[in-house]
Amino acid sequence: MTVVTRFAPSPTGFLHIGGARTALFNWLYARHHGGTFLLRIEDTDRARSTQAAVDAILDGLSWLGLMGDNEPVSQFDRKDRHAEVARQLLAEGKAYHCYASPEELDAMRAAQKAAGQPVRYDGRWRDRPASDAPEGVKPVIRLKAPQTGETVLKDEVQGTVTVQNSQLDDLILLRADGTPTYLLAVVVDDHDMGVTHVIRGDDHLTNTFRQIQIFNAMGWDLPSFSHIPLIHGPDGAKLSKRHGALGVDAYRDMGYLPEAIRNYLLRLGWGHGDDEIISTEQAIAWFGLEGIGRSPSRFDFAKLENLNAHYMRQADDGRLVALIAPRLESARGSALTEAETALLTRAMPGLKARARTVVDLAASAAFYIAPRPLALDDKARGQLNADARALLGELAALFAAESVWTAAALEARVRAFAEAKGEKLGKVAQPLRAALSGSTVSPPIFEVAELLGRDETLGRMGDASNAAPQ
Ligand code: GLU
Repeated sequence: MTVVTRFAPSPTGFLHIGGARTALFNWLYARHHGGTFLLRIEDTDRARSTQAAVDAILDGLSWLGLMGDNEPVSQFDRKDRHAEVARQLLAEGKAYHCYASPEELDAMRAAQKAAGQPVRYDGRWRDRPASDAPEGVKPVIRLKAPQTGETVLKDEVQGTVTVQNSQLDDLILLRADGTPTYLLAVVVDDHDMGVTHVIRGDDHLTNTFRQIQIFNAMGWDLPSFSHIPLIHGPDGAKLSKRHGALGVDAYRDMGYLPEAIRNYLLRLGWGHGDDEIISTEQAIAWFGLEGIGRSPSRFDFAKLENLNAHYMRQADDGRLVALIAPRLESARGSALTEAETALLTRAMPGLKARARTVVDLAASAAFYIAPRPLALDDKARGQLNADARALLGELAALFAAESVWTAAALEARVRAFAEAKGEKLGKVAQPLRAALSGSTVSPPIFEVAELLGRDETLGRMGDASNAAPQ
């Protein structure tokens, strides 16, 4: 059997982090089995579905590298096929017309409530003859669901879950206006698209029993079902915005790399021993339904950030420069020059070793291309007292005469200078760091000096040593 999975978002908002995880699991399962991963946009709710949301979802999936193997299918476009299936069930006597008016159904529910009974459709049109149909009323089509026995879901994650059929009422397949219900649409689409494995959030678990009844009525094979526990916040409560229930685009804006998000989402609900860092290739090789956990996972920004730092260190330097360029450019209002891009690329190994996000990386790289005189932060300014400025002035004279402009040569020069002065290295290196980077934290400062080059380094040292006392 060729595995076919699908991701079926409703385009009523952005691609949220839980949806991204569902997409990832389906994508991985298909890749692992050499199968197909399909996308279906569940846009039957016309009032709440928007093209902007479709675009945001596809954009988020494409950024995450989780595009489907098909052109996304629009569920709404398939409404005639859904209606056809409802009519087929009607013709086969497995569904029936129900003429109950909304008022009548409200009264039915109120009476059930008052009597302390469960609220559900009581099957009042199930066995009535067509001759009873009231004039001019458009009926809905309801499934003639089994009333005895039980519906069994053999879920790959949740285990076997059973519901008594007496607890499920005759669900509506086709509304009076001829539009299909969501439950019908999902079943028809999953069948027609050849979906073999349905992997989705466990908020859909209760829908599944009703969907199984539709599959059975049509005599269609059931797909395998896996319902994944939802993602909770670090405190165990339902995921809120504060906890990270954001769109994937928000994670991109916060400076996370897609491969870090993939690794993080994978671990959020799936495990392979104690492995935390799992590359996408490894994930494809290892992924299976048996590794999906049964309890809700907790979203943890600190873990995501650690993983991101790892993937940042591994990322290609040119790619990282391209990622920080728009941030640097919009901060200063002009494009990076070729020389600046080259400088940042050379500086990237030192910069990425310290950054946790692309946002951090852009902030920590800005000093390389900042205009003189460099803006110093408060701590850097604090380093530049009169003594430090005097030392910088002397050191600048030595640097000017330096014949070899490498980090190693400059470091040797500064060490000798500090020793001759009877000072610790930091006494000289810290003011130098402040002068060159405008901060008290930076990549190794001699490397910074080498990359900035002699003229820029001497210029920045001069600016700092000549600055008015702080
Ligand atoms: N459209 C549903 C959702 O966005 C998913 C349905 C399914 O996976 O079966 O939650």
